[in-house]
Amino acid sequence: MKVLFCSSEGVPFAKTGGLADVAGALPLALEKKGIEVNVCMPKYGTIKEQDYNLKKLDDNVYYCKIGKKINVYFIANDNYFNRPGLYGDKTGDYPDNLDRFMFYSKETLNLLKKINFKPDVIHCNDWQSSLIPVYLKTHYSKDPFYSKIKTLLTIHNLAYQGLFSKDQYPRLGLDWSLFNIDGLEFYDKINFLKGGIVFSDLISTVSAAYAKEIQTKEFGCGLEGILLKRKKVLSGIINGLDYGLWDPETDNLIFKRYSPKNIEDKYINKLRLQGECGLAQNRNALLFGFVGRLAEQKGIDIISNNLDKMFKSNIQMVILGTGDQKYHEILENLSKKYPDKFALFLKFDNTIAHKIYAGTDIFLMPSRYEPCGLGQMISFKYATVPLAFKTGGLADTIVDLDKNKTKGNGFLFEKYEAKEFMGKFNKAVSLYKNKSAWQKVLKRIVKLDFSWEESAKKYIQLYKK
Ligand code: ADP
Repeated sequence: MKVLFCSSEGVPFAKTGGLADVAGALPLALEKKGIEVNVCMPKYGTIKEQDYNLKKLDDNVYYCKIGKKINVYFIANDNYFNRPGLYGDKTGDYPDNLDRFMFYSKETLNLLKKINFKPDVIHCNDWQSSLIPVYLKTHYSKDPFYSKIKTLLTIHNLAYQGLFSKDQYPRLGLDWSLFNIDGLEFYDKINFLKGGIVFSDLISTVSAAYAKEIQTKEFGCGLEGILLKRKKVLSGIINGLDYGLWDPETDNLIFKRYSPKNIEDKYINKLRLQGECGLAQNRNALLFGFVGRLAEQKGIDIISNNLDKMFKSNIQMVILGTGDQKYHEILENLSKKYPDKFALFLKFDNTIAHKIYAGTDIFLMPSRYEPCGLGQMISFKYATVPLAFKTGGLADTIVDLDKNKTKGNGFLFEKYEAKEFMGKFNKAVSLYKNKSAWQKVLKRIVKLDFSWEESAKKYIQLYKK
């Protein structure tokens, strides 16, 4: 079985979110299971040839090796990709994203012939590679080299669709007959993701719950109709976690390594984190953490709106994130108000992220929707209890401690209301006071296994299909 994995970002080369974690880990897990896999992504300005020992194939393509025999190909074009951001900058999306990802998609297909790699399946991810199935089934379909290749599109977040104005359509070189409600058209705009949904042979999302949710008006982001039409080919596979990167036993970025056998050493991390953040070094203060994009999706507002109430208990909070300017300002004001209780890092910083997963007691993920979510899985491994909203991948991985005393592994609120959120917050505060009950939960969660093993098997089943 041969697979080309297409992603607009991937660890360790470029990352803005969970897609990069998947693209960095899944190909390696597939290779271990005997799949011949190559990866293709854009060569952003931040990916330096000397850092990864990149070799040049031609003016448009660089490559390097990962795993045993996986080639990662980088589609290069200084005009399009030699910029600091992946999709945009502070002012918003890059205005030429249509051209950038059209170029990436076409060059990815051209690459296959250049390297004479004829995959059984091209596995596309999100809107940035959604034009690949479209071109494959139109421009490339008559060429025998391409005609048998099948496609799988994985949707990591339905809210990001790649929308462009209609006047740019001629640039895509596609027939106008495809610009309709059953094609790439979406309320008179071009919708890349919709093109992928329509033209891919199979579609998946990153949890079973999210696969169902996106067929409803509430979570479908306007695409629920087309997803309902294609529901027979739509399934959900939960992401795995790369324990090579996320394991407190081997983690070089945390203050003190610890294993399930000595969870006690977690508290050294807590005290050091408190120290580094300028918080009181107090083991009894329940320390909450948040790492994520500061976007409405992630529920940062339900945290900031309730912070005053939360600080009435003996708790502390550390937040790491970047995103909407609005939340930067709200959080900055709150951090000035509570300098000894609230530490704030408004940036993307992998080292601090590791320290937060290791040093906090509770990991907050009040996402309004969450296709899969990695934070809760990382926190399990680091003996940090998640507190989350019951949605998508969070609903599929977290078992509420109130509902199931023997299997409970976190706190889940079921209605998106401050009262419900604070109800779970209070439960967490009181459970933490019961040291032996708390330790029991920690011992249970560190044993949970969300490695790629099972999920890679499920992807292979899809490829075979
Ligand atoms: P999403 O892909 O929607 O952003 P996920 O939970 O699937 O959310 O994945 C987010 C990943 O990015 C996690 O590995 C998280 O630790 C990391 N991350 C998010 N924001 C930051 C940040 N500001 N600094 C470091 N890591 C971050």
